[in-house]
Amino acid sequence: MDEPYVGRFAPSPSGYMHLGNLLAMLLAWLDCRAHNGRLIFRMEDLDPVRTRPEYAAALAEDLRWLGLDWDEGYPDPAYCQSNRTALYEEAFHALEEKGLVYPCWCSRAQRLAAANAPHPGEAVHDPGCRCRRYTVQERAALMASGRMPAWKAAVPDETITIIDGHYGAYTQNLAREGGDFIIRRADGIYAYQLAVSVDDMRMGVTRVVRGRDLLSSAPRQAWLIRTLGGTPPGYCHLPLLTGNREKLSKRLGSRSTEALRKEYDPRKLVGTLAFIAGLLPAPEPISPVELLPLFDWNNIPTGDIPIDDLDI
Ligand code: GLU
Repeated sequence: MDEPYVGRFAPSPSGYMHLGNLLAMLLAWLDCRAHNGRLIFRMEDLDPVRTRPEYAAALAEDLRWLGLDWDEGYPDPAYCQSNRTALYEEAFHALEEKGLVYPCWCSRAQRLAAANAPHPGEAVHDPGCRCRRYTVQERAALMASGRMPAWKAAVPDETITIIDGHYGAYTQNLAREGGDFIIRRADGIYAYQLAVSVDDMRMGVTRVVRGRDLLSSAPRQAWLIRTLGGTPPGYCHLPLLTGNREKLSKRLGSRSTEALRKEYDPRKLVGTLAFIAGLLPAPEPISPVELLPLFDWNNIPTGDIPIDDLDI
């Protein structure tokens, strides 16, 4: 029997969709349907401050309007990350038992400073952050101070190669390039890296299609999944859209999606997306189903796609 092919939409309902999200959703759908796969719609609503139920509902409506369907997921609450805390907690404890978790008291500003590239060749788990190296006494004193720490995964000095479905081999040393990363925030909210890994693993996702800005997260996610006893999915990233994002998000993103749906014809929008993705020679109106026979990753560029001159 063939291996199951399980893809997913995994948007964060922190605003209305912009063109880049729509392209990612369209390609995730085409990729999954072209393989007769099962498509999951997971709502990444972990952050109670940045995400809103009305954005989630609008996202789902946008997908339906575009002609993108899914087989399981939203609005089933089991597919909303805000309801999956128990699973993240379980994974957190599993990592803790392996000695792979430590508290971090760095301020946000310190963490941002720590995001600067470490010197190549040096095993720096998190430059600027001493928290991993605190003694038991130092840790106990900080714990007693009452200031809540964030919690980080302590990555090994291990080099991981991802074979990306579109970009090919992508290699990263977890310690030197990725560095230790936050898996639970100081306010108790589980972080994106942990949640996405647990969910892809628990939902049996075999294929992740998403924007290239997350390619550098793939090695740590594959490591987390393997460490938790799972098999990482295949990753397949798509190019980013570049240009005057502000102008575009004003036209497509920052208005209510009801307005967007009134103003745009979904076939025209799909045709424009297919054209910029290299799947159509001209932006002709088309439906996702009609586009399926033309779908081919070989025609999709790897370089960023300029969108300033788009007629949308
Ligand atoms: N929820 C993430 C976002 O909307 C994407 C997660 C993923 O595809 O791994 O940026």
